[in-house]
Amino acid sequence: MEKSNKKKTFLITGGAGFIGSHLCEKLIGKGSKVVCLDNLSTGKLENLSSLKNNSDFVFIKGDANKIKEIAPVFKKYKFDGVFHYAAMVGVKRTIENPLLVLDDVEGIKNILELSLKNGRPKVVFSSSSEVYGEPKELPEREDGSVNPKIPYAVVKLLGEKFLESYWQKYGLKTCALRFFNVYGPRQESSDYGFVVGIFVKQVLEGKCPTVFGDGSQTRDFVYIKDNIEASVKAMELDSSNGEVINIGTGRPLTIYDLANSIIYYSGQKEKLKPKLVETKRVDIRHRFPEIGKMVKILKYHPAVSLEEGLLNIISYYKN
Ligand code: NAD
Repeated sequence: MEKSNKKKTFLITGGAGFIGSHLCEKLIGKGSKVVCLDNLSTGKLENLSSLKNNSDFVFIKGDANKIKEIAPVFKKYKFDGVFHYAAMVGVKRTIENPLLVLDDVEGIKNILELSLKNGRPKVVFSSSSEVYGEPKELPEREDGSVNPKIPYAVVKLLGEKFLESYWQKYGLKTCALRFFNVYGPRQESSDYGFVVGIFVKQVLEGKCPTVFGDGSQTRDFVYIKDNIEASVKAMELDSSNGEVINIGTGRPLTIYDLANSIIYYSGQKEKLKPKLVETKRVDIRHRFPEIGKMVKILKYHPAVSLEEGLLNIISYYKN
């Protein structure tokens, strides 16, 4: 990204969201120009407040799934790279609206075709560990089985395959990243949100964090900084072209231990403990990635410990 003197220009769809806004800040910090396209469905302009007076940053309110709204953006700017992170997110929200996730197929089509016809910028796509569904093997490997269980995951898998085929058939540089649970400041913490934010909010309100089932289910929690560093490497390095890569820490954590750690780092050990709640919902029991491909291809190893990440997010929610 830094090899020529000319500033590189990146498009980030979904750039007003949790992950996208951190990526906008990172790329601006590296001396690039950033165009952020977001329909503000779950994203917020306040996530981008640090960039609003930056002359290298442009925000466009628009829908990546609507060709009329996204085609002019490709006509106006010449992109060196595109991060396609816009999507309908949140397991609860997407299960409540199963057919709406199919609209995101339009966005995938638009991004690939517009990139192919407008200077061929590399496309990095945010896929999800949900493509593994109920895993057939652990740790989950990119060349192992996929078993998507929810509509959102089916669309992510289709996106991955489309990216791969555009690399294979048309030589468009692409890379799909399978994000495992990302956490950090700005993540949605409503009922539609994500477990770390929900637990931190409960604990800071003096409530016991509610753990569904017996809490022995595992997930891999990646701090936002590590996710962003890996995403930038995926864009920069040609070794990632045409690849699908897990982005995780490879350290599984039970949901019970996550709740306990949040209580501990919030200084509430004497007062609170995880509250187990019975559920009929059959959750995926275990989920954690093999990260060898990320380390080898992206030359990146997660650097933020769980302690550091949780302390950061607790202090963010406190303030
Ligand atoms: P988010 O909701 O904060 O960000 C998504 C952004 O996309 C929002 O700003 C939203 O307004 C925008 N958006 C949605 N549909 C759009 C459209 N059609 N056109 C333009 N903008 C649109 O969620 P996030 O956690 O930051 O997720 C970013 C990406 O990472 C998503 O693609 C998501 O599927 C993927 N992902 C996230 C996680 C995680 O743990 N957060 C895990 C796996 C994959």
